[in-house]
Amino acid sequence: MNNSSNEDEEIISWFEDIAFKAACVQTQTLHQILEQNFGVEYLKKWLGDLKIQDMEPCALESLYTSLVPLVSHADLEPYIQRIADGDQSPLLTQEPITTLSLSSGTTNGRPKYVPFTHHSAQSTLQIFRLSAAFRSRAFPIRPGGRILEFIYSSKQFQTRGGLTAGTATTHYYASEEYEIKQKTTRAFTCSPPEVISGGDYSQSTYCHLLLGLIYSEQVEFVASTFAYSIVQAFTAFEELWEEICEDIKKGTLSDRITSPKMREAVLGCLSPNPLLGFKIEEKCRELKGLNWLCVIPKLWPNCKYVYSIMTGSMQPYLRKLMHYSGDLALISADYGSTESWIGVNVDPASSPEKATFTVIPTFSYFEFIPLYRLQQKHNCLAVDDFLEVEPVPLAQVKVGQEYEVVLTTFTGLYRCRLGDVVQVSGFYGETPKLTFICRRKLILTINIDKNTERDLQVAVERGSRPLSKTKIELVDFTSHASVTHQPGHYIIYWEIKGEGEEDILAECCREIDVSFVDYGYIVSRKSNSIGPLELCIVENGTFKKILDYFISNGAAMGQFKTPRCTSNPDLLNILDHCTTRRFRSTAYSSCRKF
Ligand code: AMP
Repeated sequence: MNNSSNEDEEIISWFEDIAFKAACVQTQTLHQILEQNFGVEYLKKWLGDLKIQDMEPCALESLYTSLVPLVSHADLEPYIQRIADGDQSPLLTQEPITTLSLSSGTTNGRPKYVPFTHHSAQSTLQIFRLSAAFRSRAFPIRPGGRILEFIYSSKQFQTRGGLTAGTATTHYYASEEYEIKQKTTRAFTCSPPEVISGGDYSQSTYCHLLLGLIYSEQVEFVASTFAYSIVQAFTAFEELWEEICEDIKKGTLSDRITSPKMREAVLGCLSPNPLLGFKIEEKCRELKGLNWLCVIPKLWPNCKYVYSIMTGSMQPYLRKLMHYSGDLALISADYGSTESWIGVNVDPASSPEKATFTVIPTFSYFEFIPLYRLQQKHNCLAVDDFLEVEPVPLAQVKVGQEYEVVLTTFTGLYRCRLGDVVQVSGFYGETPKLTFICRRKLILTINIDKNTERDLQVAVERGSRPLSKTKIELVDFTSHASVTHQPGHYIIYWEIKGEGEEDILAECCREIDVSFVDYGYIVSRKSNSIGPLELCIVENGTFKKILDYFISNGAAMGQFKTPRCTSNPDLLNILDHCTTRRFRSTAYSSCRKF
């Protein structure tokens, strides 16, 4: 056994130890968080001058959950804003907060500030190592190999009070922990830091691809934070390959790379290699004829797997990812948020559709709000809003039950609802294995209809089935609940690849309409208080424009998730300008049984 696998076994055995006594570890974790932050303004408000140090951890746990209320991020925002404005008194944590992370705010939300501390970077390093150890067991890689990693750190900036702000990944890439990882890891990112932090995602993507090909024989796996970035990169590659091959042959760098630092760093890795350039060019010609099927294994012959978040809002990109990846294993990456890491994928060999995330009980104190879908039955269709009850601690969750995740973190969030819905699919020792279901927030709603992102995803997936009879591919989608004219109606925007026949697209439109299984929607459609659904086909590149819009407004490429529903006027403007064809479903005739 070499050193690395010793380290792998060590970290897995640490994890097994805490997983098998997770209930006790959680009680201790909460005790530790409260002890470290004893006396901060927020806790004083709810716990007064309680002598935490003298209390039994179990007694403290029940007192804490009975005295401190469940909150959402908005309730903590006034404290976080004071920190951002430079208030140095202990508001949420005793350790001064010098860095704030921007969470993506997900679906249509605005970015939120979340405190980032040393603990955040440490837990990131720890979950990366743990996850790599589980992956190496199932898919061993060659030590010293490389990773073609589509990662992007965004700009850090200063808040009014002089704190450093940026995405959590940006802080991590700038941290001591990332340096440690780079020194001790078994495989290295192909791109130098100047490419990762270049600030222009198109330029970085070009360089990631170029360097990935230069080191193609050494690449052990392809990765990104969210699967979207890999799909986006290979879609760009379909247009860029000839230019990239020229650069490989001549040892030059395309003029499209304008960042001086990036140019210098990448040129430092290049030297003319006509043999490699011609070889790749030949393969690309062949691949182009095959619509880039299996491009990853064909160009990276030693690649063992593709690793990225493929669950939740990334599921719609899975089909395209499989197209590019061929027979390679697709490994779904871990579950976390800017607020805290949550769970690790301990079964990397299972397919992304079956991916589960095993909660790491030392990272935060986790609670779970049981959610019950209000089953309003109608012709066998039933999916509606949630009914919730009191949260339960980690060790008391039940298999099959859905929950919303609540976090108490080392970074000063106390009983904060994350807004994610998960289902418990089993246990690893005493700690639950979670399946990610969706964001809890409703996205499509006009009156009594209620649809989550997942409901929309399912409707779009079913509605796109008629496309399988054709060569048309659904590239991306979003939606809007339009109330400009009465009755209001849903608009679904589709970008497709290939010429769509009118009758097929009209069929898709009808299919999407009847694929919303929400009772409120069905009733409203039948009574015509919601009008026929509209399917708008947008021109090629529209979703790239949306990405560019978000990036130019400060979003980070590595964190980007296409908003699945929007009422943002700028976005609607882009979508409407780019719409080339519109379809309306007819009167709502029958509701289907699935
Ligand atoms: P952010 O804080 O911007 O990084 O976004 C965090 C959110 O991304 C989480 O709350 C989830 O909704 C989503 N997310 C993170 N990891 C996963 C995963 N493995 N599967 C599905 N969704 C995820």
